[in-house]
Amino acid sequence: MPLPSVVDDFITLLFPRQCLGCSGVLARGEAFICTDCRAQLPYTDYHRLPEAENPLARRFWGKVPVQHALSYLRFLRRGRVQHLLHQLKYQNQPEVGRVLGHWYGHELAQHTSLSTDLDLIVPVPLHPRKLAKRGYNQSDSFAEGLAESLQRPWQAEALRRVEHTSSQTRKNRMQRWENVAEVFEVVNPAEVTGKHVLVVDDVLTTGATLEACALVVLAAGARTVSIATIACADR
Ligand SMILES: [Zn+2]
Repeated sequence: MPLPSVVDDFITLLFPRQCLGCSGVLARGEAFICTDCRAQLPYTDYHRLPEAENPLARRFWGKVPVQHALSYLRFLRRGRVQHLLHQLKYQNQPEVGRVLGHWYGHELAQHTSLSTDLDLIVPVPLHPRKLAKRGYNQSDSFAEGLAESLQRPWQAEALRRVEHTSSQTRKNRMQRWENVAEVFEVVNPAEVTGKHVLVVDDVLTTGATLEACALVVLAAGARTVSIATIACADR
């Protein structure tokens, strides 16, 4: 007997039948991202490189010491990755972050020591006004997915943005960086003291946000900091 349409609609709401990468119809057993997209996503595989050869790690050299600088995908405009991130961030699809976090976490558990030597995963926080408007922080679901597959704890409110007064738009790059550096703080330093903390975000562009977060986490007494994003853009 066919399902009543209201139940069917409800299931469709929970499990969209369109791939969030390519908008193609999902096959039975696929959820959020189709098998074709999964096979063709531009993986960085930075976690398989020695840290000295990792181009993302190099971007933090001389700025902040990070143990692992990781990004699952390469951010390419107008491609599947941009589409996925758009869905995650603006189309009320936080679940896609969790799926990507699961997949990446399994990779990292196989090829790195993160599943044993990581103590806490913390997402980059949104400004409270943005959080209220969007209803969720797009980095939370990625943190949650990673935490589940690495079997390490995560904490949504470990970091917070502090109010900044001046507009960022008229500042030059250096001033902007300084401004970003001022806007994060560790809510409860005891929570990170002595720990290896992985700070996660959806996209890395200049790296200034993750750099600022890593600095405050270290300043609060963390033993080590690593960073991971869903995607990173080339400079
Ligand atoms: Zn697809």
